[in-house]
Amino acid sequence: MKEDKPPYQFGTATNGLHSPNHAACDNKKGRQMTKPEQPRITGTCLCGAVSFEVASAFDKLFFCSCDQCRQITGSAFASNLFVGAEGFVWLTGTAEIVRYQVPARDISKSFCRVCGSGVPWASSDGTKMIVPAGILKEPAQVAERIRIFASELPKWASDLEHVPMHAKFPRPTGS
Ligand SMILES: [Zn+2]
Ligand SMILES: [Zn+2]
Repeated sequence: MKEDKPPYQFGTATNGLHSPNHAACDNKKGRQMTKPEQPRITGTCLCGAVSFEVASAFDKLFFCSCDQCRQITGSAFASNLFVGAEGFVWLTGTAEIVRYQVPARDISKSFCRVCGSGVPWASSDGTKMIVPAGILKEPAQVAERIRIFASELPKWASDLEHVPMHAKFPRPTGS
């Protein structure tokens, strides 16, 4: 059964800009009624069904390697950006979003039901959006990067600076 509403409410890119009677638009500069905003960037899930736009400047990026974030991402740590909810707008695909709430914890996972990509979700008080950094399509400006729950980082993901690095696949050896 398909839900008409996303699990939480947000504006869309096409509403909220104009009052119904367009009274505020009746000036010579037309669209200048909107406040000047900081640059915005977009993000999409892998299949493209879910997309959003967000202010490009973030205060914090958390790399979290707690047990739950590792299971949720299937990787060594989650990479989550935090932004005020007013700086975020869905563009498409909210009906495709599924959210799993970890019982009794303030941790959840939102993902695209088509491709499984992690997508943004709202904080429990609704004031912030948490954006998985990997789904942004353009560079974000991040003021501060922080690693948390380092005590739960598995051994296989420690000392990454000492792991051999290749620009793409490693060259075949012995030929
Ligand atoms: Zn998708
Ligand atoms: Zn975590």
